[in-house]
Parts: sequence; C-alpha cells; structure tokens
Amino acid sequence: MIKSFLTNRLNRRSLIAIFAALAVIGSGTVVYATHSWGSYHWAQTSNPFTLKLGDNVSSIWDGYLSEASSDWSVSSSTLLGTSIVAGGTNNTKGKLTPKNCVPTSGRVEVCNAKYGSTGWLGVAQIWANGSHIVQGTAKMNDTYFNTQKYNTPAWRRLVMCQEVAHTFGLSHQDENFSNINLGTCMDYTDDPDGTIKGQLSNEHPNIHDFDQLALIYAHLDTSATLGAEAPSAQGKSGHAPADVSEPGEWGRVLRRDGNGRPSHYERDLGNGQKVFTFVFWAD
Ligand SMILES: [Zn+2]
Ligand SMILES: [Zn+2]
Repeated sequence: MIKSFLTNRLNRRSLIAIFAALAVIGSGTVVYATHSWGSYHWAQTSNPFTLKLGDNVSSIWDGYLSEASSDWSVSSSTLLGTSIVAGGTNNTKGKLTPKNCVPTSGRVEVCNAKYGSTGWLGVAQIWANGSHIVQGTAKMNDTYFNTQKYNTPAWRRLVMCQEVAHTFGLSHQDENFSNINLGTCMDYTDDPDGTIKGQLSNEHPNIHDFDQLALIYAHLDTSATLGAEAPSAQGKSGHAPADVSEPGEWGRVLRRDGNGRPSHYERDLGNGQKVFTFVFWAD
C-alpha cells in the first residue's frame, strides 16, 4: 500500500530522489517504484516470452486489440511479448453474452459484449495460484462504447491497452481522473488522447510501464504457468467452479479510484488461489 501511495502521489523523478535517499540512509528494505499490485506474474522458464491473447472481440475491436498487442510488445527493454490467437471462450466471435468470457489456462481471453449498464467500461481479471498468474480475461463493455462519449478511438485504445496490461500484473500509475495525463494507458483520465486539455495522450504505454514489467519478469521460474503446456487451472486446482463474472462475486475491495469507486478487488478461493478484478468505471 505504501508503494502504491508513493506511485500515486509522486512523479518518477521524485521517487528516484527518495530511493536515492533511502539508499543513503541504508535501509535494509528494497523498495522500488512499482505499479504492479503485488508480486503477481506469469511463471516463465525463459526470457523473452510471449503471452497469448485470445481474440474473442468483434471486428470493431480487432484493430484496437492488435494495437494493444503491438504496443505492449515493441519496447526493446521488454521481456514480455504478446501474440493474438483465436479466441478460446467457446463462443461465437463477437457474440458473447455477459457471463461468457470463459478463461483459458495459460493465456488471456479478450472479449467485448453489451454487458449492460454495469457502470464499468472495462474489467480485467487474473486468476493466481500463489504469486503466479495462471489465466486472465479482459472485457470491454459495448453498452458504454456504443454511446457518443465513449465511442471514440481514444477511449477504445485507452481501455483496451489498460485491461490487457492488467493481465500482465500491471496496475495503474495514477487513479485520479482529473490529474494531468502521465502519457500512459495505465493512468486514469477523462481526456484519453489529451486533446481536450492539451496534454499527453494516455492511449499507449510509457517507459515506466516497461520498466515495471522488466522488474516483474526479471526472474525465471522452474515451471511455467504461461502457454498451452501450463498445468490446468481448471478442475484439480479449483479455479473453474467459482463464478466471478458479477460484481457480487469479485470479493473484497483492495483499492478505490480517485472518485472513491472500488477499482481493485480480491476474491480468495482458498488453497492459495485468488481472483483479482480491475474495474475501469464509466462516468
Ligand atoms: Zn515467478
Ligand atoms: Zn484498470
């Protein structure tokens, strides 16, 4: 929580100064700028690695999914790449019903649907076993993206970019909608492309996101949760039985956004297994 607080309140330069000061003080605790929400990450046995994004989205979203995938794969510093594969949610592409964005072990499923007047524009969910992510979903709510306010390339880019990145283990850099844009899709804003207030665009990641990913994924694990060879997250490990689609199933609130709305939930499934839900609320 302290780390999150720091990330929210201070810019990176300030953080660097603080860490330098900490180093001088000689604190034994290693602290670093972070907007992961814990140590949660996909387990991988080699670097770099590629995370599969299942394409369950309709044609209007295909370009935004491609853009997000390449946005998150281009940095020279990245250890993580993404690739788009056929959707695995057992549904007809683009015709998902609200309950359906069924996760697939070892990868991420990306979906859009008219989820209704739920209040949210986008939701990302991560299933974790211990500290390792085993599967994820990212959902875009067309009930809002079909409205005049949100039916813009800038809003679609921002939300797609952010929801996909939550499945990597990244959280927000800032959660106040009216703060000046940080130039990353991991920053809440009411001006996604920066044209309303003449500021940076929040439609794509920034270097701080890649720095964070490099920290999260610097180590190798002895076995992978990533990819088709991953041990099943269904059945034995007990992920499948819990329904976590509805807000009442998201568990306890971990964080709230700048408007006081819950933005991050944790549902404890027992046996070291948890589901985390990130919510991007509409106005
Ligand atoms: Zn690990
Ligand atoms: Zn978010």
